[in-house]
Amino acid sequence: MEITSLTITQTLQLLKEKKTSPAEVTQAYLDRIKKLDSKTEAYLYINENAANDFFVATGELAGIPIAYKDVFNTKGMPTTAASKILEGYISPYDATSVEKLKNAGVINLGKLNTDEFTMGSSCETSAYQITKNPWDLARVPGGSSGGSAAAVAADLCCAATGSDTGGSIRQPSSFCNTTGLKVTYGRVSRYGVMPMASSLDTIGVITKSVEDAALLLKVMAGKDSRDATTSDAKVEDYPALLTRKDLKGLRIGIPKEYFVEGLDKGVEKVIREAIETMRKLGAEIKEISLPHTEVALAAYYIIAPSEISANLARFDGIRFGPTVSDSKDLIDMYFQNRTKGFGDEVKRRIMLGTFALSAGYADKFYKKALQVRTLVKRDFDNAFAEVDFIATPVSPTPAFKIGEKVNDPLQMYLEDAFTIPASLAGICGVSIPAGFTEGLPVGLQLFANQFEEAKLLAAAQVFQTSTDYHLQKPKIS
Ligand code: GLN
Repeated sequence: MEITSLTITQTLQLLKEKKTSPAEVTQAYLDRIKKLDSKTEAYLYINENAANDFFVATGELAGIPIAYKDVFNTKGMPTTAASKILEGYISPYDATSVEKLKNAGVINLGKLNTDEFTMGSSCETSAYQITKNPWDLARVPGGSSGGSAAAVAADLCCAATGSDTGGSIRQPSSFCNTTGLKVTYGRVSRYGVMPMASSLDTIGVITKSVEDAALLLKVMAGKDSRDATTSDAKVEDYPALLTRKDLKGLRIGIPKEYFVEGLDKGVEKVIREAIETMRKLGAEIKEISLPHTEVALAAYYIIAPSEISANLARFDGIRFGPTVSDSKDLIDMYFQNRTKGFGDEVKRRIMLGTFALSAGYADKFYKKALQVRTLVKRDFDNAFAEVDFIATPVSPTPAFKIGEKVNDPLQMYLEDAFTIPASLAGICGVSIPAGFTEGLPVGLQLFANQFEEAKLLAAAQVFQTSTDYHLQKPKIS
């Protein structure tokens, strides 16, 4: 077996037994990136020097090569958010999560493609390249953390970071057969990660197994004085708590609103079988209702653009990006730089958000959407009074073809129907490999209440170790 196909846990074992070295593992990944990344186009920046970084590798993840979604500031490296407006920007500092992982000894292989400023569900809004799904190079890897999911699936890194505002870790994980963890809002510091919608943004990971996600979360989680929204809820020893052998005594709710028209028949079949597997593993399965599911998407597409319009106001294209040489005055310069620097989807959202917040409309749109958000949160509160977990499909479809939805924003937004409600509620969730339809991977989404990551990962681990879907690899060479 090739060293690049191993999980973090397996690689750490080999390193411990001195059967390999951090430099050798890292070089193996760099060689594979050189050979295969031209097919997937997952990387925006490759750290050619990574194999020389091993001397700093001393912590609990010492010698593990991972890669970062290109919205994480990584000192001395470009960080573009896949946007032209950040072309030429070199991060002067590390994001908190990057700093923590570095201190734990991980090696940085480079930066991974995303939709521009993480707005999208297919990686097609990246200003630089379209990442391909390793399971079928004619299809999208999902988004926005599509580079992360494709790289993990194609063994181009041992694991990757991602961010999830409305589904960006879970949906690409479903499309690429990886394990994706979206944490509770406030569990992991957002400091140093390019913001999209600040009341929704969460930082998480895409890995080859649940165990690996637990290992990374243990390092990344916790209070950070540089991000006031981080919680001081206790960071648990997530890997040590993966002790469940079955799902006995657990109640899993199946919300009827997630099995509606528009759900692909092949996806539905996989999810129904996964539910059956969980029942056989001892879980009590219960139908539940999350009545505001249908309006969650509309509320998100008001709240997120509103926050986007505020967050992206800081990009002026002056110190980096496409600074124009010929402008009438400062306002005209901003206007031209931003016109050139941002892509269509980013502009669409800035305009939508500006409109939704404008005088006379804020009450009608923004405030209304916030009220809906409260109702969505209440749905989950009511559900978690009855059940331990909620199980659903991640996405209504498997990976779609490149070009199929990119010119129809509404179709693209509908992709997020099953991931967005949990984002509005700020709860945690995973996408884990659950089967295939017509050769394409399908992920099972499992939610737990806020700050129940330990419980969630333990249950996901039971499902994963009783099945072998996560061990299936795309045939890419
Ligand atoms: N696809 C969703 C959107 O475009 C979610 C993006 C995200 O989670 N960053 O808004």
